Amino acid sequence: MRIDIMTLFPEMFEPVIATSIIGRARSAGKLDIRCHHIRDYTTDKHGRTDDTPYGGGMGMLMQAQPIYNCYKAILMQLGGVKPYTIYMSPAGSLFTQAKAMELSRKPEGLVILCGHYEGVDQRVIDEIADGELSIGDYVLTGGELPALVLMDAVARLCDGVLAGEASWQEESHSGGLLEYPHYTKPAVWNGRAVPEVLVSGHHANIARWRREQSLKKTLEARPELLDAAPLTQGDRDFLAGLRES
Ligand code: SAM
Repeated sequence: MRIDIMTLFPEMFEPVIATSIIGRARSAGKLDIRCHHIRDYTTDKHGRTDDTPYGGGMGMLMQAQPIYNCYKAILMQLGGVKPYTIYMSPAGSLFTQAKAMELSRKPEGLVILCGHYEGVDQRVIDEIADGELSIGDYVLTGGELPALVLMDAVARLCDGVLAGEASWQEESHSGGLLEYPHYTKPAVWNGRAVPEVLVSGHHANIARWRREQSLKKTLEARPELLDAAPLTQGDRDFLAGLRES
């Protein structure tokens, strides 16, 4: 998958996209992630990319023209393909695992616009963006960290990036529940033993224990997720028991 990122701070990306699973997927040609420096596209002779807001108010806004020229240069590189374009914004709709899955299946690729300062001139958002996404109900100084979060969550769902689909199919948020706890060697650490069922070798019991632990964790940490989760009658009975205890 190709992902193009438009930013005033491209140096924030390289350490992350060159590292670990994402770095290996790039080297293997599974991901093509490119950062574009918006400042390279300004026509201002002093290299400015921001200005004061009409109507007054604090702070500076990123201007439309450098962003639009940067976007058009990406379109030229893509040779006519129109990528799905996202503006990272605390005023956008919430970025979720379901959205990450949807975006990972976009054959046309993604363009991500990172805002900075007080944000971006609305006209260029209206001109190029297919959607606005927020990574949470808080405000960061820029869209670079949100873009990295989105890129990472999407990239690991792309074909060939993780070892197999099973790696993410059972994860938190993929099946509507939070994930069960994990344990690795040694069997006893600091006086704490691994739950016996996990060393029993009994696959059906292990699967049931994991399902129950997922339900318990979700009830404790994010009970509202249970409203939309696909639950069996057995799950509901187990939850009812937990609520009564
Ligand atoms: N004035 C804007 C507002 O109140 O909505 C906030 C601007 S913020 C300081 C600067 C930039 O950071 C935004 O343009 C956006 O790209 C990015 N940003 C900040 N918080 C974000 C969040 N929770 N999710 C996505 N992007 C965010």
